[in-house]
Amino acid sequence: MSRIDIHERVQAQGRLRVAQGRQRRRRTVTRRDGVRVEVDGRWLTGFCSNDYLGLASQFEVGAALQDAAAREGAGAGASHLVCGHHALHEQLEREMADWLGVPRALLFGSGFAANLAVQQALLLEEDDVCVQDRLNHASLIDATRLAGCRLRRYPHLDAEGAMRQLRNATGGAAMLATDGVFSMDGDIAPLRALARVARDEQALLYVDDAHGIGVVGPQGRGSIAEAGLGVDEVPLHLATLGKALGGYGAVVAGDAGLIEHLAGTARPYLYTTALPPALAAASLAALKLARRDDWRRERLHELIELFRAGAGRLGLDLMASTTPIQPLLCGGEAAASAMSAAVEAAGFMVTAIRPPTVPEGRSRLRVTLSALHTPPQVQALLAAIAQARDRVPAADRHDTDR
Ligand SMILES: *Cc1c(COP(=O)(O)O)cnc(C)c1O
Repeated sequence: MSRIDIHERVQAQGRLRVAQGRQRRRRTVTRRDGVRVEVDGRWLTGFCSNDYLGLASQFEVGAALQDAAAREGAGAGASHLVCGHHALHEQLEREMADWLGVPRALLFGSGFAANLAVQQALLLEEDDVCVQDRLNHASLIDATRLAGCRLRRYPHLDAEGAMRQLRNATGGAAMLATDGVFSMDGDIAPLRALARVARDEQALLYVDDAHGIGVVGPQGRGSIAEAGLGVDEVPLHLATLGKALGGYGAVVAGDAGLIEHLAGTARPYLYTTALPPALAAASLAALKLARRDDWRRERLHELIELFRAGAGRLGLDLMASTTPIQPLLCGGEAAASAMSAAVEAAGFMVTAIRPPTVPEGRSRLRVTLSALHTPPQVQALLAAIAQARDRVPAADRHDTDR
């Protein structure tokens, strides 16, 4: 009998990753204070968190979590449909729907689970199709695999490419799915053009706005509001609670009938424990601040401009992003890792993002900015990056074709 041994397969894959320099290493944070993080006993200034508005460490948010936990305990105890659905969940759904300007919102334990749920519940047949931007988040891609329908991808930001893919895949139902703000590039999807394509091709437009919520659009309502669109054009979208809102979890927001269907049929919704009620309380506090505090977005945009102007003067390889995600292309994987290590030696934490998260030859330092950073911190980071670039040998920087 021939059978592949799973242990051997795992070991072979591990050796391959080492040979390719693609091992992934977790860093353990022992203490945090705003954007400062203690890693391996050393305090660094972090430029890689998604806590864009600084709400994760905001006093009112932590206090809401503590108060609710003191009253309600740690866990929800059961799934939403059994007996885990708490009034705090209900209130968070209502207030998120109100903020985002949609009829309804449904709370999930994570954005990853929410994306799985949406496609599994709506794309039911093998000849259904999900048409996706090539740089969409991994959870959107995996969701199509789970749904078991056809997956078609189009070149990044290319609405015409999306139209062609939809025209070539007729027969079943169609969803057009895109990140609102792209997680590794920081650029924004052409939502108005995609909405026209979706309307013309009778596809349901789904926008994963994990990185747009709180950051872009009026009152931080995200990339859909920024594009002047609403629930008529984008019947469903994802808003995460773990990024700009500084907590954990996600909501799917949009059309009441579709949301009702998700709540009644989506397996990643039904068969999982509800989010701890105290976390819902934290998100309620965060949402109030995200909605109200335009100064956080203004600060952020000043820092983005400062960073881009400085990086431009230094000749760094910026990408076309107006959001707090400001990646610097390094080319090869070794170069990105070496740059990250050199910048860390200078006191900054900036993660290198390498394949398979990004395409070959597009490894980068993914710099992210927060409203809590100060202009001198941004200037010091730029100086450290420039110095690192001058130290990392040019051969390393071009070790992979661009
Ligand atoms: C982070 C992220 C998710 C997953 O959200 P979690 O709540 O962290 O599971 C989904 N989509 C995009 C684009 C993301 O960046």
